[in-house]
Amino acid sequence: MENRIYNFSAGPAILPLDVLKEAKEDFVSYKGTGMSVMEMSHRSKTYDDIIKAAERDIRTLLNIGDDYAVLFLQGGATLQFSMVPLNIMAPNNKADYIVTGSWSKKAVKEAKRVGDVNIAASSEESNFNNIPKQEDMKLDAEASYVHFTSNNTIFGTQFSAEPSVGDVPLVCDASSDILHKKIDVNKYGLIYAGAQKNMGPAGVALVIIKKNLLDRAPADLHTYLNYNTHVEKDSMYNTPSTYGIYIIGLVAKWLIGLGGLDVMYKMNLEKAALLYDFMDASGGYFSGTAAKEDRSLMNVTFRLPNEDLEKKLISEAADKGFSGLKGHRSVGGLRASIYNAFPKKGVEDLVEFMKNFKVNN
Ligand SMILES: *Cc1c(COP(=O)(O)O)cnc(C)c1O
Repeated sequence: MENRIYNFSAGPAILPLDVLKEAKEDFVSYKGTGMSVMEMSHRSKTYDDIIKAAERDIRTLLNIGDDYAVLFLQGGATLQFSMVPLNIMAPNNKADYIVTGSWSKKAVKEAKRVGDVNIAASSEESNFNNIPKQEDMKLDAEASYVHFTSNNTIFGTQFSAEPSVGDVPLVCDASSDILHKKIDVNKYGLIYAGAQKNMGPAGVALVIIKKNLLDRAPADLHTYLNYNTHVEKDSMYNTPSTYGIYIIGLVAKWLIGLGGLDVMYKMNLEKAALLYDFMDASGGYFSGTAAKEDRSLMNVTFRLPNEDLEKKLISEAADKGFSGLKGHRSVGGLRASIYNAFPKKGVEDLVEFMKNFKVNN
């Protein structure tokens, strides 16, 4: 339909077609205002309704209580690698990091500039093909927080449940699996996510922070880097990414319309199972790179018997309208990113294509 292809890009990634259509409908003149959302003041009543609805719907989807603030910030998930330690590494000036991929490592790099980082566990030795086991985590009960990456976009692994961290606040980079299922936000001190994988366009980072952590920010912290600034001004201390937040709001509304995150999760389980089950039954021709029990529902990483076949498959797939299947260079092989918005039919068609490719090669 409308020349759309199957977009397996890891990010920026596919958005729900219904959302794009609704945005198109309102693109030139938003609901009779005579202007695009992109052209209106962030201080206008119309825009205020848009950002409030986006926040409300995200709160509804994740059942977020009043003891948490929900922020729409800029600087991507990457700025959060710095903002998190700058704001909440006090008072003990040390934090635990569970390292499960390149993004966790980048988070560690910035945290080290602020205080002491304890690597509570790492799967780097096995090129991040698994998630460390709870019993192998060396957590420090005095740490100011524990940081983990819920889904490893590059390596195709995912935590099936949060690590248990006792009373230490849990901080999560959920950039590539936010809203893929219901989680209990009360288990977390802070959750952050760049929007452009599972939630909207690039340019917005969602931050959900427990309000009692806000007093930890040092008094001399730069105004813009301080979460309190953004909480006090409802994410409008300066001009936010107005259009990005608008699209996130449409995505949240779309999820609610589907029946919420339990329905979404069921669909995600089905989509991922289609692909993994087919790979597992291929007699080793298509082999998953992640440990079975840690496989991601969002990014399916796999290899073929050799690199020539991988190249051939990627190129033939592209001709047939399956785009973005090349794996990240640090893993090699292929990666099919099948986020919330990716249709089941696209996974079925990919499996059919892979079946035929195997027969012919
Ligand atoms: C993409 C990604 C990031 C980086 O996001 P930006 O918004 O580009 O800064 C961080 N963490 C994870 C898990 C990611 O997938």
